[in-house]
Formats: sequence, C-alpha cells, structure tokens
Amino acid sequence: MQLEKLLHSQGFGTRKECRALVRNGWLEIGGVVVEDPFLEVDPEGFEFTVDDQPWRYREKAYLMIHKPGDYECSHKPKHHRSIFTLLPEELVNRDVQCVGRLDEDTTGLLLMTDDGQFIHQMSSPKRKVPKIYEITAKHPIDQAQIDQLLAGVLLHGEYEPVVADSCELVSDTVLRLTITQGKYHQVKRMLGAVGNRVEGLKRVRIGALDLPADLAPGEWRWLEAEDLEKLK
Ligand code: URA
Repeated sequence: MQLEKLLHSQGFGTRKECRALVRNGWLEIGGVVVEDPFLEVDPEGFEFTVDDQPWRYREKAYLMIHKPGDYECSHKPKHHRSIFTLLPEELVNRDVQCVGRLDEDTTGLLLMTDDGQFIHQMSSPKRKVPKIYEITAKHPIDQAQIDQLLAGVLLHGEYEPVVADSCELVSDTVLRLTITQGKYHQVKRMLGAVGNRVEGLKRVRIGALDLPADLAPGEWRWLEAEDLEKLK
C-alpha cells in the first residue's frame, strides 16, 4: 500500500494532506525520515512515527477508554464535554464510535471502534455479553433488594422483567451487579425499582475484559488481540 493511502486510512487527513505530511518530513520509519508519499509498504504490522508519535497500522481501530464523569458519549453533547475530545484527532477522523453508551455521570470501561460489525455484535441481545457495574447506592442494600434484582424487576414502560445475572455485595452501600442486557438507564432503573437509588455508577468489566487499574480516568489505550479475545 502506498504511504499516502495508508496514512489516509489511519485518519491522518485527506490524501492531499497525507501527501504533504510525508513531503514535509513529518513521517519516520525505523527512525529515518521518508519523504516519498508513494513508497509502497506492507501495511501488516507496519510501524511509523508522525511528529515523533509512534503508530502501528490497524485495519480497524479498537480501543478502551476510562470514561470520566461529566463526559457525554455523543458528538453533540448537551451539558458536558464530548468523550471524543479525549481522543487524538486521527481516531476521531477514523470515525470511531462508542460500543454502547454510558450515561454522562457513569464512569469506567467504555469500548470504541470504527468496526460497525463489532458494535452490532457486542450490542446484540442474543450475544448476552455480561457487563459488571459497581454501584454506590444511596441506602444500604439489603438481601431483599438483592433477591428482587436476581429474580427480575419490571421497569417502567417495559413488558419483560430485567434480571441481574449476579450480585456481589462489597459493602453496605456498594454492589457489583452483572447484567447482560443494555436497556436505557438500566442499572439506575433497576435500583430504583427495588426502592434504592444509584449515587455512583462505574462499569468495571465487559465480557472477560477488566478496566485496567493503571488506566486513569480520561486515558485510553488500544485493544490488542488478547483483549479482543476476552470479548468473544
Ligand atoms: N445503566 C445505567 O443506568 N447507566 C449507565 O450508564 C449504564 C448502565
């Protein structure tokens, strides 16, 4: 693949902009400046730097971000900043999207990709991908509430009950709840339905993929093959 085309595919701008980027000496391969935008390279595993930032060619972009509170999973946020402002512009140019949204006040593990099929698969109710949320509740959570969540609760406006796949009490007011569905405000509505209230909500796991302890709020990182394996 020609360098110009490769850079364009990775979100570095229009073909013309990518051509100029190379000709102006911003691109290095193996520490050597390459100024020919039409140089043919094998994209598979291709590594390069642009303006000293390291990149690797990725046919599709898969990443995780530690969503902070007060960010919205939208390009047109209403009250807070957009989650997309936390990403480099190359990823925004690639049109990565959220794999299911988190509420503006929810924090934690959020996946993003430009692979529409992946978004579809992960969001499909048939796949039943488990998601674990750490809930800080307003009132102490009692066994009756846990029993109700596990048995299933009917949410306002829904016809079928939603169930918690598992509930693990961490402290009086902190519960780790696993769900496989993804209805609008589901966790908050579930807690409301059992007479409690969510004060804080953090997603800590999707499938077998944990939010890494060393990924600070607002930070993102690529999902590698072993991470994607944990989402199968
Ligand atoms: N359930 C909610 O209520 N909010 C979220 O952001 C995610 C799950």
